[in-house]
Amino acid sequence: MAYTEQQILEILGPDIGNRTISYSWARNLHSVSTQTRTIAEAFSIWTKHAVGAKSAAGSIVPAVMSTSKRQGVAVEANVLLLDLDRGPSWPRIVERLRGLGWACCAYTTASHGATATDVLAATLEAWKDHLGDALSLGAAASRYLIEVLGHDPAVALGGVRVEKVALTKPAIERKARQTTVEVYRLTHRPITKVRIVFPLEKPWLAKNYDEYRLAKSDFSDLVMRLGTAVGLEFDRSCSNPNSLFFLPTIPDNKGRAESIVLAGKLLDPAGLPPAAPRTWRWHPDGARKRAKSREMPAVLIATDRDGKEDDLAEWFTGPGRRFALLDALEDAGAETTERAESAGHHHFQCPRVGYHTNGRGDGFFVEPAGIKKSWHAYCCHDSCQDEHDLSFIAAWIESGVLTWADHLRK
Ligand SMILES: [Zn+2]
Repeated sequence: MAYTEQQILEILGPDIGNRTISYSWARNLHSVSTQTRTIAEAFSIWTKHAVGAKSAAGSIVPAVMSTSKRQGVAVEANVLLLDLDRGPSWPRIVERLRGLGWACCAYTTASHGATATDVLAATLEAWKDHLGDALSLGAAASRYLIEVLGHDPAVALGGVRVEKVALTKPAIERKARQTTVEVYRLTHRPITKVRIVFPLEKPWLAKNYDEYRLAKSDFSDLVMRLGTAVGLEFDRSCSNPNSLFFLPTIPDNKGRAESIVLAGKLLDPAGLPPAAPRTWRWHPDGARKRAKSREMPAVLIATDRDGKEDDLAEWFTGPGRRFALLDALEDAGAETTERAESAGHHHFQCPRVGYHTNGRGDGFFVEPAGIKKSWHAYCCHDSCQDEHDLSFIAAWIESGVLTWADHLRK
């Protein structure tokens, strides 16, 4: 719905509604101007959908930009913006926002309600192969939307229709030399796309930091922390103080647009939780890169806690290929991570966590052996990228989790 300023003042109360904030308004990247308004005035603009192209109403930039020679330098921000583009339905988002108790406004963006997602044909096929045997393309597509793109499972309710489409060059990014590219067009339930604006209790000021670089990275951290607090899948790519966010538009009067103003306290960044780490998702390049670089060692001697020494490389050419890794890890009580099982991936703490630069053991999973393939272990951390599957077994042996007699050669 659209609100009048008076209605917004009544919702927020005069203390918050009449408070003045500054931000930038941009017709495009080259014409950015500072706007200073009361929160009620700003919210009435940010909750009214204009009919037209997504850029029809211009954009908000969270920060006020420097007017000196150094164009594009953010000086101050009074608002944080968050995009939810994989999230649950609009009513569930509103319910979640109410529960947080912060004054904010939210609006659906131009692509709200989209029912089609294009995925490069080769990518979806690689994903289907990765999931293993006997899965239909439609089932693989549903899981791609949820597990790789991070959409709410409701998007795949009732099944996903898959159709092969050849896109011609103007419609795609100009990165390939070819003139057409094959994609699978996935047709699914409408996707909710929402933008939320939270006014801050205290402004973020670039001058509070020794270097602009630190100010910017702290701003980005604030957005990540806010996203973590909101607890819904959010778009991490718009975390710069000078990101452009289109104001609310709707392509025509037929579509559905939603907006809301919610009462609450002003957001105090000091009360935000630390940012949750990014969840690692499958990527076709990642899989290929690993497959190529992870060469099997010729000899890999591992000594277990009983002092037994043996060659993992030799073991892998025999019984090791069909090793019941999952059973062994469960039997040994290996530490799992919060995502214990998804998509046939069984998440454990990476046994090579000692090599990870951030010291975290998540982002590691194993796949049990299938009819035609061996078991696999994958770790998303850079320091594990070039490791063969056997390195992880070696680490479990060296750390005393697995033993030759109890697990590998029993
Ligand atoms: Zn690792």
